[in-house]
Amino acid sequence: MGEQCIFCKIIAKETTADIAYEDDLVVAFHDINPQAPLHLLVVPKEHIPSLNDVTEAHAKIMGHIPVVAKEITKKNGLAEDGWRLVINCGPDAKQTVFHLHAHILGGRPMSGHMA
Ligand code: 5GP
Ligand code: ZN
Repeated sequence: MGEQCIFCKIIAKETTADIAYEDDLVVAFHDINPQAPLHLLVVPKEHIPSLNDVTEAHAKIMGHIPVVAKEITKKNGLAEDGWRLVINCGPDAKQTVFHLHAHILGGRPMSGHMA
């Protein structure tokens, strides 16, 4: 599934990425074009195109993503200052990679509440 998908290739180690964390459900790697001092993507190993495709069957993996994000941000000393977890879905949200991923953004004050 997702043979042409860049994130599937990173998960399969066919393309390199700066991987910070990996387990049986997810991989987390540094964004190639960081928008904050800390900018990682937490990506389910299963190829789910977007939030539009999420069902109750994905409850475990979707619940796991914020726990992994918390551990990564804690390890990077951001627990107190705070950080943001963002999932873009579809064109209005400017989703560009159609393999679901959550952005961890931190290390600077965000410019607005939502965008
Ligand atoms: P989206 O706009 O879909 O929410 O975010 C996609 C993100 O993936 C962007 O922030 C972009 O910089 C990042 N990205 C796209 N291709 C690659 C890649 O090959 N490697 C890494 N590490 N990040 C990528
Ligand atoms: Zn994929």
